Amino acid sequence: MKEIFSNPDFKLGVLGGGQLGKMMLAETRRYDIYTRVMDPAADAPARLAANEFVQGSLTDYDTVMKFAQGLDVLTIEIENVNVDALEDLEKSGLKVFPQPSALRIIQNKATQKSFYGENGLPTSKFFTFNNKAELLEGLKEGNWEPPFVWKAATGGYDGFGVNIVRTADQIDELPDQPGLVEAFVPFEKELAVIVARNEHGDVVTYPVVEMEFHPTANQVEYVLCPATVDADIEEKARNLAVQAIEAYGLVGLLAVEMFQTKDGEVYINEVAPRTHNSGHLTIESNFTSQFEQHVRSVTGMPLGSTQLRLPAVMANLVGEDGHSGNVQYDGYQNLLSMPGVYIHLYGKSTTRPFRKMGHVTVTHTDRSEARAAAERAKDSIRVISRS
Ligand code: ADP
Repeated sequence: MKEIFSNPDFKLGVLGGGQLGKMMLAETRRYDIYTRVMDPAADAPARLAANEFVQGSLTDYDTVMKFAQGLDVLTIEIENVNVDALEDLEKSGLKVFPQPSALRIIQNKATQKSFYGENGLPTSKFFTFNNKAELLEGLKEGNWEPPFVWKAATGGYDGFGVNIVRTADQIDELPDQPGLVEAFVPFEKELAVIVARNEHGDVVTYPVVEMEFHPTANQVEYVLCPATVDADIEEKARNLAVQAIEAYGLVGLLAVEMFQTKDGEVYINEVAPRTHNSGHLTIESNFTSQFEQHVRSVTGMPLGSTQLRLPAVMANLVGEDGHSGNVQYDGYQNLLSMPGVYIHLYGKSTTRPFRKMGHVTVTHTDRSEARAAAERAKDSIRVISRS
């Protein structure tokens, strides 16, 4: 294998140059690993840290094929890429991690959910359909009654494409498209585990985090680590993440979102085959951040320690409602003097309501102090548009 550090002949390609790419490239810069990044936006957040930046479509076959010429390893920071191209590149001998076979299953929520059923991974009861007629038939056949959850097979993210159906008349309004229906889980907590696997089959898991959602935006507002769960839940959740990454045979990172039920069960909700919002706090709170771990796992390096250094709470900074246009950050001045507070701004030039624009991580020996400080931080920073 080629030497990967400080070697311009070793090239790591990354499809997607958003904030996840930007934070990953902080690590490739630290290790001096040569990167080529592609994103459709000319002002993509990751553009400055890349050795080469290409503006182009991630979903266009020819563009992806051309981008990959001369790379040693190709990885992603977003799932919505042309998988046909990745398959052909893999066939031609390029290392593509995560593998296109796993990406194809995960890209579609219906095939993703069916995969859990086929592989014995605990998940809520469900059925899949191709259109509204099949949906209605499935509801009738299975005697489904609200509440249940409808999910679009493709095209949804951050809560878009997910409908919690609480009353029978909401069924009429559901769109005519492929998707799945699953049982509503009256969960105690939403948890996530990031797990990494390299080509040698080594696997490590991060400590379980707990997610708190914004009451109306259906978006994660805070991520907390360690999760306040019993040791047996921690173990179940970490084991489930290992089972999932091994079932996919995936090389790279898998972020596994889970529900902890009131009776102590842990179910898989969904996975992302890449770095994830629930792992941002690992930058400050763990020995190896998820971004470094991603780079290590796809380049065949030994995996790093996932041990927690300090409890941490991450708050997403999203665009304020009612503001669209060139971004301006207000009210961060007093945060800069608070110990253990780390501000990350993604470098997106324009804001819109609830767009992820940055995050703040607070570390503290006492998790509840970190939670309180994260809330203060979030309340004082405002992401607005410049008038
Ligand atoms: P997205 O890809 O948009 O993040 P998710 O499948 O994670 O979609 O769903 C978004 C949110 O909707 C979840 O974080 C959870 O709060 C809620 N949700 C999803 N599925 C269920 C379910 N089966 N039972 C209860 N709540 C659910």
